[in-house]
Amino acid sequence: MHTRLLISLLLIGATSKLAAQQTPQSLADAELPSLLTIYKDLHSHPELSGYEERTAALVAKELRAAGCQVTEHFGKYENSKLKAYGVVGVMKNGDGPTVLVRTDMDALPVEEETGLPYASKVVVKNDEGKDVHVMHACGHDVHIAAFIGTARALGKLKGQWHGTIVFVAQPAEEIGTGARALLKDGLYDRFGKPNFALGFHDKADVQTGHIAVTEGYASANVDSVDVTVRGIGGHGAYPHKTKDPIVLAAEIINAWQTIISRGNNPLDPVVITVGSIHGGTKHNIIPDEVKMQLTVRTYKPDVRQRVLADIDRIAKGCAAAAGIPPDLAPIVSVSKDFVAPAMYNDPELTKRLVAVWKKSLGDESVEMIDPVMGGEDFSEYNLPDHSIPAVNFHFGAVEPAKIAESKQRGKELPTLHSSKFAPVPEPTIRTAIIGMTVAVLELMKK
Ligand SMILES: [Zn+2]
Ligand SMILES: [Zn+2]
Repeated sequence: MHTRLLISLLLIGATSKLAAQQTPQSLADAELPSLLTIYKDLHSHPELSGYEERTAALVAKELRAAGCQVTEHFGKYENSKLKAYGVVGVMKNGDGPTVLVRTDMDALPVEEETGLPYASKVVVKNDEGKDVHVMHACGHDVHIAAFIGTARALGKLKGQWHGTIVFVAQPAEEIGTGARALLKDGLYDRFGKPNFALGFHDKADVQTGHIAVTEGYASANVDSVDVTVRGIGGHGAYPHKTKDPIVLAAEIINAWQTIISRGNNPLDPVVITVGSIHGGTKHNIIPDEVKMQLTVRTYKPDVRQRVLADIDRIAKGCAAAAGIPPDLAPIVSVSKDFVAPAMYNDPELTKRLVAVWKKSLGDESVEMIDPVMGGEDFSEYNLPDHSIPAVNFHFGAVEPAKIAESKQRGKELPTLHSSKFAPVPEPTIRTAIIGMTVAVLELMKK
């Protein structure tokens, strides 16, 4: 009896010693070989937004193996007949806070030119029936590998945290509809409204081993606006008998510039880009209409509302000034599909995580970076009123020597979405796992 008790005590001692040795760093290192295999497999099998069937099945299998309760085929797109391939894995560990951890899964219509042995050769038909090459050119495959690594690590570190982790593998990030599809399907009703939401993204101009983050607004509201300028067409030699929509469209484009230069507080960033303009068929015909497509970027909700209203008002005002009858006023429509709210990294939460990252990775490995006017639909998870504190952080994906060389020579490196973008897998995935795991542990520690 006495001997058995002694052996039991020794065993308990050995187990707790083993548990004490396990850290996010050691677990990341231990998982790397298997995650690298997963990463290369994902990289050579990319899937376009809305078609992430194989990727989602792989993620579901891995989350299950890591100890999650998994729900597949989650999500409901607003205006689409597409099936949503969202995966939600719930890891429970007693009472405590709920933390959402998100990865995206989709790839891009890009022909890979990295020359890597595991480069994608995938070609599929797009929605228009055209052949397109597909590539993980934004690094979402890195995100998935690190996401699986994080789930495995946290599954083994259950002695250090309590509560519920909701692992969310989101489809269709690149077209800005995936996060909304998951929320629309009741993500927060079915799996609980999280106390915190965490996301991550690789960065093509930051060195491996580093984390980079912005406090406060980090990426912009993205709005897509379609404008049809209508006129009265006719012969190009008799302009006085027409109302020329091409000259009018040109005036409208110039007048829109004053929304930023005159109507806006210079301290509030705004971008209005007319990315497409089409009108007419021939040299000597004045057409009936001109169509334009705009992308509009803002941060604050009130600025966003004002800018969108100004685009409409100025278009209609210019048309009235040109003598266009009211029934032919420009049609201005703001898309409900291609939108993403601004990403707001909760300042208090950002500070808290920066401190933790500095402790785990070293002070010099954490960079505070400027906000950008790009878009990211991870912002949907902190809800329009920012009631769920969220942080979307970046991790470096480029060899330090290449960053140094690029700075020295002023040579631009391949950006995200480039056919030549190739993250260095091991150190990139490793830092992402550590960054996410220590962040979750900080928020859920016992
Ligand atoms: Zn992207
Ligand atoms: Zn991306």
